Amino acid sequence: MPRSKKKCGFCGRTEDEVPLLLSGAYANICSDCLTNGYHSIEEYIEADHNGKHKTQNQVSMTSVPKPQEIKDYLDQYVIGQDDAKRYLSVAVYNHYKRLTSQQEKEDDGVDIEKSNIIMVGSTGTGKTLLARTIARLLNVPFTIVDATVFTEAGYVGEDVESILSRLLQVADYDVERAQQGIVFIDEIDKIARKADNPSITRDVSGEGVQQGLLKLLEGSMVNVPPKGGRKHPDQDYIHVDTRNILFICGGAFDGIERKIAQRLNTHTVGYSSVQNVSKIDPKNLMQYVEPQDLKSFGLIPEIIGRLPVLTYLNPLDREALYNILTKPRNSITRQYIKLMAMDGVTLTFTDEALNYMVDKAVEYKLGARGLRSIVETVMMDAMFTLPSSDCKTYEVTKAYAEQQLAKKDRHLV
Ligand code: ADP
Repeated sequence: MPRSKKKCGFCGRTEDEVPLLLSGAYANICSDCLTNGYHSIEEYIEADHNGKHKTQNQVSMTSVPKPQEIKDYLDQYVIGQDDAKRYLSVAVYNHYKRLTSQQEKEDDGVDIEKSNIIMVGSTGTGKTLLARTIARLLNVPFTIVDATVFTEAGYVGEDVESILSRLLQVADYDVERAQQGIVFIDEIDKIARKADNPSITRDVSGEGVQQGLLKLLEGSMVNVPPKGGRKHPDQDYIHVDTRNILFICGGAFDGIERKIAQRLNTHTVGYSSVQNVSKIDPKNLMQYVEPQDLKSFGLIPEIIGRLPVLTYLNPLDREALYNILTKPRNSITRQYIKLMAMDGVTLTFTDEALNYMVDKAVEYKLGARGLRSIVETVMMDAMFTLPSSDCKTYEVTKAYAEQQLAKKDRHLV
């Protein structure tokens, strides 16, 4: 049997049609293709040297959405929380401005400083949702990390530097891009100093972590373990400069209302502020939050100083919960309608049923998170049976919702 001729994997010519064919373990390449490849690499390196490839890492202001556009986008997905949306939109827009101002050649001596943000608001009011939604709009690397996993070096947990490992991962290990990214640190309140606990044990997940975090917020060169987790001596590190990374922190700060109330009371002793007392809304003290309240809660002053933009989220009232159920572009009801449509079933909810589910969420005091589990419980049976039935339309009524929730309650008893 004649031996089949070896071919170049690039141009397809056989070994006797080319000057020289080099054989590899998995493919062959001829000397012509190899020479062409070499010239292409040379051109690439030269262009890189002249800064041509850098353009892909540069941010141009023309493509950046304006603060109003960012807020309009957030409005489609997040109900209410106007103040937080405005602060975030401006901060993100300014972040881009800083990046472009650094790309400009002339130095006029004005350095725009970074404005890291801290958002305070009860759990389930939309902090993470805001961060996730804004991430979709941006063309800089963005990551969300949870502050609870970090501990001081030497204890079980992760080093704070691993925050940057995640940013590197989403930037495909392009260090320059990662250095322009945005990080959302959730549950920042969980690393508050445990002030009432001057015990013999060290505060390894509190103040120790804050000190570590400070280094990142301040803007410095940080040695980052590429895969995250704990640093160890034999590892190769990637050096990341955090000067241009925007940090957005969020936390529920449970009980901070008490500190705010205390401060407001002590401030309202003088008669000049008596008229202000009547203006204070006791149901939503969070809106009066100030940096000193964060300090009383247990954040160290240095950290607070590095988070100059402080904003809050409102608690969700009944009307907000109703809107959350129905209005956002990917509202809970729309998600179920889509799920059913995939089986050819047109799903509808009566207004009575929607109101009933909102009432239940208010009763359970679980906020927006509770809404999801209530709708899930109500829809469970229907989602099980409808795909294999001939039913083409399905209406969820209040009676049906009541019956489904009662069934669940019976199981619980
Ligand atoms: P937080 O981070 O404040 O604890 P999340 O953003 O994780 O809360 O909110 C939990 C869920 O509740 C979200 O996935 C979303 O479905 C819903 N939700 C909360 N707040 C809002 C809001 N303001 N608008 C729309 N949906 C919301």
